[in-house]
Amino acid sequence: MEPIKFYSTNLNSEEVTFSEALLKGLAPDKGLFMPKEIPVFTKEEIKSFTDKEYYEIAFEVGRKFLRGQIEDDELLAITKDAYDYAVPLEKVYDNKYVMRLDQGPTASFKDFAARMMGRLMQCFLKKENRSLLILTATSGDTGSAMANAFYGLDNVNIVVLFPETEVTARQRKQMTTLGKNVRIIALDGKFDDCQALVKEAFSDSDLDYLNLSSANSINMGRLIPQIVYYFYSFAKLRKGEEDDDIVFSIPSGNFGDMMGGVFAKHMGLPIKKFIIAVNENDEFPVFVNTGEYRKIDPSKNCLSSAMNVGHPSNLARLVALYGGVMNEKGDVSKLPDLNKMRNDIYALSVTDTETKEMIVEAKDKHDLLLEPHGAVGWKGLMDYVKAESIADDQLCVSLETAHPAKFPEMIIELLGFDPELPNSLKGLEDKEESFDKMSHNYNEFKEYLKKKY
Ligand SMILES: *Cc1c(COP(=O)(O)O)cnc(C)c1O
Repeated sequence: MEPIKFYSTNLNSEEVTFSEALLKGLAPDKGLFMPKEIPVFTKEEIKSFTDKEYYEIAFEVGRKFLRGQIEDDELLAITKDAYDYAVPLEKVYDNKYVMRLDQGPTASFKDFAARMMGRLMQCFLKKENRSLLILTATSGDTGSAMANAFYGLDNVNIVVLFPETEVTARQRKQMTTLGKNVRIIALDGKFDDCQALVKEAFSDSDLDYLNLSSANSINMGRLIPQIVYYFYSFAKLRKGEEDDDIVFSIPSGNFGDMMGGVFAKHMGLPIKKFIIAVNENDEFPVFVNTGEYRKIDPSKNCLSSAMNVGHPSNLARLVALYGGVMNEKGDVSKLPDLNKMRNDIYALSVTDTETKEMIVEAKDKHDLLLEPHGAVGWKGLMDYVKAESIADDQLCVSLETAHPAKFPEMIIELLGFDPELPNSLKGLEDKEESFDKMSHNYNEFKEYLKKKY
């Protein structure tokens, strides 16, 4: 079969194959790549997942999108290497579950996407005998997930810039104790200064020889891995009847996680409803409910900090799937089918006060330990169950996207104990750190890159 082609949501670029979309990241017209065709699983195929391991389901999903682009044995080796950790499904009450996506090397759900994307990039770069240099600015978690995901891979190097005084010691150590093909720069400046240097490097033709890539959250290579856990949880929790279906609650920021779910639905997963729970950055619930889109600029600082997004970078993809057109600035030139969207999606905003209350309530009522992102998701599910009088036996899964031990101060304040670190984060204190320091001067950064690579 012919490989699947990818178009740009701005509708002004040539179609490309998956490997090109993966290595380019953004389309030349600044739009997001989208598959022209979303492959579908039969009911029998979905049934067969019940007996499969996580990495085997990841292989089946990847294989559909990457047909004609990669050999089966190569892809299976990639998913097996990427997913060597558990994906716990914790029963909370009745048929309501929390899926813990926090067992990867940086205890964040971003590990799922970053690890598979890194390995796919390595595979395609080797085939083409090329190499890439990934440049990323981080305010904390994304940088460590990326650095860990690319650590030790061939044909790809990564440089992460972070604002020296704005990340916690633990976040810093998750990046600076790696070494090998990972270089970390502590910048005397703010996150925006880091981002500005990265942006300038991308537009500097003197650095073309480095093959710079951003590998950020809009890369198609990060969305495909995020389809997998939706299939996995359904496969493991379903009753096994013809009419089984499932509800997912997704704590959301840039909507990459949600897009994985929406693709899963298009691929045949019987998803009854998506609950899209955001923090006080409520531009999306307002859009779904009123049809008016207004970004929030600057975005509000909430407790669920990885979701402080005033304009979700993947929103244009969702709009495209519902028949609308939105450009990279958030201007809507064609409205999506809002009624269909409302039918599929229950969108709500959760305040910081409600987030804290939910962390306490979940612990007291169900002995469920949540951190702020997961608490936003769980609150969304509880609201939905009540508002739509959902039956006790309806299967519902709420996503927990980070490990509670990453928020010790908040958990101590609310629950009175210090949560135990997951194995992946233990022993960081004793490891040796290595990083370079720099002022926020572009020429200094440019000379650094030219000297090192
Ligand atoms: C990035 C992130 C989110 C939001 O995911 P999106 O794909 O951007 O919607 C939620 N929780 C945590 C812990 C994250 O790091």
